[in-house]
Amino acid sequence: MPEGDTVYLTAARLRRALVGKTLVRSDFRVPRYATVDLVGERVEQVASYGKHLFIRTPRASIHTHLKMEGVWRTYCVGERWTRPRVTARVVLTTDDTEAVGFSLGTVQVLARAEEHTATDHLGPDLLGPNWDAAEAVRRLSRHSEQPIGLALLDQRNLAGIGNIYRSEICYLRRVHPATPVRAVPDLAALVDEAHRVLTRAATQPPWRPLVYGRQGRWPCPRCGTVITVRPLDSTTPASDRITQRERGIYFCPRCQPEPGTV
Ligand SMILES: [Zn+2]
Repeated sequence: MPEGDTVYLTAARLRRALVGKTLVRSDFRVPRYATVDLVGERVEQVASYGKHLFIRTPRASIHTHLKMEGVWRTYCVGERWTRPRVTARVVLTTDDTEAVGFSLGTVQVLARAEEHTATDHLGPDLLGPNWDAAEAVRRLSRHSEQPIGLALLDQRNLAGIGNIYRSEICYLRRVHPATPVRAVPDLAALVDEAHRVLTRAATQPPWRPLVYGRQGRWPCPRCGTVITVRPLDSTTPASDRITQRERGIYFCPRCQPEPGTV
């Protein structure tokens, strides 16, 4: 699943392709917005908040979320698309550019004044101009008994972390992902680490994970122990391999000892 840095970089790419240009065609291939027509509207801004993306014209804000498979691509007008046409959900065309959102998880066309309804429930955006570390700590602290590996995924606490970065952040802080939030040795430092990791991934790509996806293949870069993966959420059915890969958390059993064993 794409995480905050992917959405941030997607917004930057769409900004370069669209901002300042006028739409000569708009095509929303979702029933609810099929009749929306933004022809003549000038794209003013493209922004991200956590994993949410906004393309703003004077009248509307096109809110999209990539969810599992979504991706935005830009093409020169007339250029062949690199994804199946049937998966296109939004097509925005200017004089020279076509921006296509494929397999998007969410598509909404909101009035600009209503845009906030898409993000009101979210915690501070790790990659946003108003990142507020103290607020993120405060929100995480409300879930004192929850495993930190799950609390980091909850976008209401802080916005932008997915499965890859929660593993990395816990690893870098030497915290076992099952540790309850209240028992994390320095929650503020962990939140700062989250901000550092996401910022680095968004500003200096490509970024390579240290533990995510490395179970059984490469040892821990710090101590040489074999990296372990397991689902943290006990509701995940063991038979659902895709869900398990998506929800599995990677850690070093030596550097990140299980809570209660130290
Ligand atoms: Zn280790």
